[in-house]
Amino acid sequence: MDIAKNTVVSFDFILKNNDGQVLDSSEKDGPLVYLHGVGQLVPGLENELEGKKIGDRFDVSLAPKDAYGEKNDELIQKVPKSEFQSPTDLQVGMQFEVPAQGGNVLLTITAIEGDMVEVDGNHPLAGETLNFNITVTEVRAASEEEIAHGHVHGPGGHDH
Ligand code: ZN
Repeated sequence: MDIAKNTVVSFDFILKNNDGQVLDSSEKDGPLVYLHGVGQLVPGLENELEGKKIGDRFDVSLAPKDAYGEKNDELIQKVPKSEFQSPTDLQVGMQFEVPAQGGNVLLTITAIEGDMVEVDGNHPLAGETLNFNITVTEVRAASEEEIAHGHVHGPGGHDH
């Protein structure tokens, strides 16, 4: 079966940045499982997977615009330490979710200077070119229920 809209796809992947550093891989948690054609993956990756089959192995390089976008400097802000619940525990690299329009936003602390903390609301992979090596491990037709819900059921998906 070819990967097309309303197929459930599993794939192994290694994700590297342009410096060859591994940012993520399926080694720890097993293959990624998703419902194809509903925008669960970044658009550039979904386009490349279209038409592939079990056993296909390929490399994809995605410019930031096809992945998580360019970094937006307006999403970097300085806030006083006193606005945090435990100001003394703050460290560069800490991440936390805050409610925002259209759902929670993940903020990363990028600098601490005196009483001010710099937080970055960009996706951690914004501005990065993503270099994937992908192996398709399973392709099956989605059930009607999965299509109606817009996500995968069973292993790697929802278990309701
Ligand atoms: Zn469901």
